[in-house]
Amino acid sequence: MADKDKKCAHPACICPTREDSKFCSTYCEDAGADEVEIACDCGHAVCDDLVVASAT
Ligand SMILES: [Zn+2]
Ligand SMILES: [Zn+2]
Repeated sequence: MADKDKKCAHPACICPTREDSKFCSTYCEDAGADEVEIACDCGHAVCDDLVVASAT
């Protein structure tokens, strides 16, 4: 199913979306799809790795 491959609408986020949203979390919902950030801080493990990697 294609739905399963949906990615969060936050540009810097690679998390899969929640079923009822185009974002993975309220963090990304607040940030919005237009916000351009270097890293996602939604708290999900996959994004946490990216934050750590780009923070140095
Ligand atoms: Zn994320
Ligand atoms: Zn997200």
